Amino acid sequence: MTGSEEISKIREAIRKIALDNAIRHEGKAQVKPVLGKLLGENPSLRGKIKEIASLTNEIVEEINSLTLKQQIETARRLWPELLLKEKERIEEEKKLPPLPNVEKYDQIVTRFAPNPDCVLHIGSARAIILSYEYARMYNGRFILRFEDTDPRLKRTALEFYDLIREDLKWLGCSWDAEYIQSDRMEIYYEYARKLLEKGYAYVCTCKREDFREKVQRRIACPCRKISPEQNLSRWEAMLSGEYGEGEAVVRIKTDLNHPNPAIRDWPAFRIIDTEKHPHPRTGSRYHVWPLFAFANGIDDHLNGITHVIRGKEHLTNQRRQEYLYRYLGWKYPEAIHYGRLKITGVTLSKSKILRAVEEGEYSGWDDPRLATFRALRRRGIRPEAIRQMMMDVGPRPADITLSWKNLYAYNRKIVDPIANRYFFLDDPKRMIVKDVKRDFTASILLHPNDPKRGTRVFNVKSRDGQAHLLISSRDFSRLKIGSLVRLMELFNVKIESKKGGQISARFHSEGYEEARRLNLALIHWLPDGEGVSCQVIMPDGSVVKGLAEKSLRQASVDQIVQFERFGFVRIDEMNKEVKLFFAHE
Ligand SMILES: [Zn+2]
Repeated sequence: MTGSEEISKIREAIRKIALDNAIRHEGKAQVKPVLGKLLGENPSLRGKIKEIASLTNEIVEEINSLTLKQQIETARRLWPELLLKEKERIEEEKKLPPLPNVEKYDQIVTRFAPNPDCVLHIGSARAIILSYEYARMYNGRFILRFEDTDPRLKRTALEFYDLIREDLKWLGCSWDAEYIQSDRMEIYYEYARKLLEKGYAYVCTCKREDFREKVQRRIACPCRKISPEQNLSRWEAMLSGEYGEGEAVVRIKTDLNHPNPAIRDWPAFRIIDTEKHPHPRTGSRYHVWPLFAFANGIDDHLNGITHVIRGKEHLTNQRRQEYLYRYLGWKYPEAIHYGRLKITGVTLSKSKILRAVEEGEYSGWDDPRLATFRALRRRGIRPEAIRQMMMDVGPRPADITLSWKNLYAYNRKIVDPIANRYFFLDDPKRMIVKDVKRDFTASILLHPNDPKRGTRVFNVKSRDGQAHLLISSRDFSRLKIGSLVRLMELFNVKIESKKGGQISARFHSEGYEEARRLNLALIHWLPDGEGVSCQVIMPDGSVVKGLAEKSLRQASVDQIVQFERFGFVRIDEMNKEVKLFFAHE
C-alpha cells in the first residue's frame, strides 16, 4: 500500500461494506463476505490480500462494537442509500424465510428449468415464483434454462419455448440469463469424456433387463470393469452412430450397495434415434443425449447456481448428482426441497393436457377448464394472486393441499378494489311495473368505494303509468307472488303475477330505508330494450348468455369487471356481442 490517501479510501470502502453487512445481520458484520465484496468491487486489491484482510478484520471489529442503532445512525449520516436498500429488503424478507448459507456466496443465483414440452401451469408456479423472489430478495440473479434433451419421450416443440417465455413475463418473473440445453451438447460430451477417462463412468452395452436384474442384486455388470481406453472407444462408437437405440448407455459409477436401486450406476447418456424423433432445434445432428440428472447437474454448476429450489421428488436426483459433483471436484449447490403441493380439482398432468388439446377436447392452451397460466390469465386471474399464494405457501417441506377457492380468495382481494360494477342478466325476463307515475333516473357508482370513477345512469320511463324492465331468469324463478322486492337503486315493488316468462308487479315505495325496514331482497335489473348481448364462458366450458347494461361498452378488452350478484369476469372480446370469461364469484 502506498499513499495514506489511498489507505483512507480503502478504509472508507471497507467501512461502508461492513456497515451494510452489519445492518443486514442484526448488527454483526462478518469478515469473509465483507472481504469478498471488497475484492469483487476492487480486483486490484487482490495483490495486497494480507494487508487488506487485516484491515478488514480491524474495521469489522470496530463496526461490530457499535450497537445496531448506532450503526443505522452512522449509515444514515454517511451512506443513506444503505438504509433505503435495507428497508426494501426487510419488507420482502418478511414474506419468505431466509435461504441457507447466503453469506457464503457473493451473489445468489437461482434458476427455473422447464422442459419445453408443454405450456406452463399452476403446478410450476411455486418453483418459478420462489426461485425468482429469492433471487430478488438477495439482489441476485434468476436464470431460465430450457431442459430439452429428451426429443423422444418429452416431446419438445418449438412453440413452447416462446410460450414459456411469455408465461414467465406474464407472471412478472423476468430472467437475467437464458440457457438452452440443446445448444450445450458439446459441453456435456466433454464432461462425459472426462468422467470416462478417470474411470468414474462407463459405457454399458448390456441389455436393459440384464443390467436391471443385476443391479437389483447389487452385482456389477461386465462393462463396469472395462478400462478407460475401452470406454473411450465405446464412447466414440456411440457418437459415430455404431450403436442403435438402447444398445449403449453411459453410466455413472455409484455405490452398488446404495439402498435406493435408482441411484446405483445411474444412466447419464443414451441413444435416441433422431432420424425417427428429430429434435425441433437440432434435428438429427445428435443422437447421444444426456439424461435429466446429468445435464441438469452439470448446468447447475456451470450456470453458477447457488440455491436450487425445487420439490422433494428431486431428492433422488440430488443423490445421483452428488456423485457427479464429487468426481468433478465441485461443490453441490444449496438445495431447498419443498413438499408436494396438491391443488384439488386441477389437471396438472402435462401428458393429459397435451393429448386433450391435440384431440380437440380442449379449445387450446387457454381453455378455461385448464390450469395453465394462459387459461388463468384469460379468466381474469391476476399474476399477483398466484404470486401471493405461492409466497404464503413458501418453501415449507410439509405437503399441502390447496383448491381453486384458495386461489380465488387471493384474486378477489386484488380485483375487488379495481373491478367496476355492472348489471348483467342471464337469460333476461320481462317485468312490467304498474303505478309508476313518473320517470326515474338511477345513477349507480361504477365502484361503491370509489366515487371518483363516476356513475352509470339508467333512465326508466313511465309509459301509461307502467315501467318496462328486465330481470334475470334466476331472480324470475325465485320471486314469489305477493312478495316485495327492491330493484337496486330504483324502487320497491310487489310481485303480482308471473306468466309466460313475464312478471307483473306494482310500485310499492321508493326509498331504500323502506326496503331496509321491510328487509327486502335486492335484485338488479335493466330498462327493457337496453343492453349489450354477452356470452360468458364459465370455468367448466359452458356458456351463459345474457344482457349487460349498455355502459359496459365503456370498458375495454382485458379489463376485469364485476357483474353484480354474478361474479368477476374478464372482457375477452368486444364486438357486437361481448365475450367474457368467468373468474370466480
Ligand atoms: Zn453393462
